[in-house]
Amino acid sequence: MILLKPELKNLLNSIKVPLTLQRRELIIKAYEFTEKAHQGQKRRSGEDYFSHCVATAQILASIGMGSKTIAAGLLHDVPEDTPVTLAEIKKEFGEDIHNLVEGITKLGKIRLKETKEEYLLENLRKMFLAMAADIRVVIIKLADRLHNMRTLEYNPVEKRAKIARETMEIYVPIADRLGIGEIKAELEDLSFKFTDPENYKIVKKLRDDYYKEGEKFNNQAIRELEKEIRNRKIKIAKIYGRAKNLRSLFLKLKKREMDIGRVYDLIAIRIIVPTVSDCYEVLGITHKIYRPMVGRIKDYISLPKPNGYQSIHTTIFGPEGRIMEVQIRTQKMHDEAEFGIASHWIYSENKRRDWKNYFKEKETYSENELLWIRQLREWQNEVVGDNKAFIEGLKIDFFKNRIFAITPRGDVIDLPEDATPVDFAYAIHSEVGDSLTGAKADGKMVTLDYKIKNGQMIEIMTAKEKKVPNRKWLEFVKTSNARAHIRRRLKKNDELI
Ligand code: MN
Repeated sequence: MILLKPELKNLLNSIKVPLTLQRRELIIKAYEFTEKAHQGQKRRSGEDYFSHCVATAQILASIGMGSKTIAAGLLHDVPEDTPVTLAEIKKEFGEDIHNLVEGITKLGKIRLKETKEEYLLENLRKMFLAMAADIRVVIIKLADRLHNMRTLEYNPVEKRAKIARETMEIYVPIADRLGIGEIKAELEDLSFKFTDPENYKIVKKLRDDYYKEGEKFNNQAIRELEKEIRNRKIKIAKIYGRAKNLRSLFLKLKKREMDIGRVYDLIAIRIIVPTVSDCYEVLGITHKIYRPMVGRIKDYISLPKPNGYQSIHTTIFGPEGRIMEVQIRTQKMHDEAEFGIASHWIYSENKRRDWKNYFKEKETYSENELLWIRQLREWQNEVVGDNKAFIEGLKIDFFKNRIFAITPRGDVIDLPEDATPVDFAYAIHSEVGDSLTGAKADGKMVTLDYKIKNGQMIEIMTAKEKKVPNRKWLEFVKTSNARAHIRRRLKKNDELI
């Protein structure tokens, strides 16, 4: 028996998918490989660089990701920050993990331009999702960002607000879109702290004071509810008080003239029970003990929120008339709310029977449900017996007809499918197009009618003295922008002759 380091033991213990011998060995191997690669490197905090890799992997484990994703989370900074190459990672860990690490390395190269315009931000988010053809890459990137935000205070002051703003504008909406409530809430509060420190302090003090005062009523309600539910022979998986996150509390307070007495879900008691019918029974029990507030019962089990969220919420007059919210849900609804798309790995790498039942249970999707839920549903049958097909299927294809290529400086160029280096050059600037002489894709020379692939870095070679495009380019360009420029330039040239 080899003695494992406590950090590695912790990581192994927090993995939610069943830890087969093979998975265990993979994690240990990736851990040791990464530790060796980053040896001697330090973070700004003075800690070993490697601690960041472990923290990222730990976050991935805690939201239920599988062993390959966790291994890639450990390895995520190796190609960029150490002499070890992607080729070596492929040799040691195989194609799948290599592709994940490569995807993260590529995303790291994108420069997010500073902008206030909403539509540009939306494009950036889409691009981010599209660049990472495999959704697991995005999830690793979120975990990476979460740990960087947790340690943001070690960055120079002028950098903090910029990173926090980027987190709020790009990463928070992506976490939200993927339904990973746990990561979204923490990223949001950390960004809030650094982008709006004054309001953060005010809201935090309001909440803390309110809690100090209200905690005992909260605990009393939990005890009374627990007792009565057990009397009815319903098994409680979990019952606890949850804190509303500071940023959403702030937004709510703004709507209520900063009057904390008018925020009813500041303290919520969460009750997790085995089945849907238990949920309704617990609702009845709750109302028997405590008077409900009229018009405040929300049944998101029958009518899920547009993002798929399911739960029953009710606002009650608790012990001594204290107003509080009670949220009732099943374990699966809970996992989905906290871990979103990630929760599906728990069910897919786990017991297949559960996975199948999971869909049978949910028959009440709304029109606007997230695309991935619909897709997951369609793939339901493929999953049985073939986990690989499931993972494959998760690759995002909302952006089927668009590709995104990067300039060597990290700017993103959005192009239609099958676009060529000529389209790319004209998308940068008409002069770049006119003086184009050659192109490289990911460092390799390509022909000018080459079809650019999503995520490639395209380098354009130009000659100063060349000012006229080639007529033949019109035969293969894909964008109307390039076509129009070429025509105009040729016409002008013909007139001159
Ligand atoms: Mn990192």
